[in-house]
Amino acid sequence: MTVFHDEIEIEDFEYDEEEEIYYYPCPCGDRFQITKEELLSGEEVATCPSCSLIIKVIYDLDDFQAQSEEVKSKTSEKKTEITQ
Ligand SMILES: [Zn+2]
Repeated sequence: MTVFHDEIEIEDFEYDEEEEIYYYPCPCGDRFQITKEELLSGEEVATCPSCSLIIKVIYDLDDFQAQSEEVKSKTSEKKTEITQ
């Protein structure tokens, strides 16, 4: 059985645009982390690399995917044209 240290909303995470990773401070001094890719695939558990604590990320998967699609829409449109 999974026991979460806490449940944190995605808005409270710090986002690193270059690495595409969301961070949240861990009580051990390190940071919980979860990648944008993991969130898009439905993963909602952020882990700390320095201890065994885990937290649950509170977010709306549909909204998150929609936002991500908006950003990618320009490049994916071109790809669609080529395949058709
Ligand atoms: Zn930790």
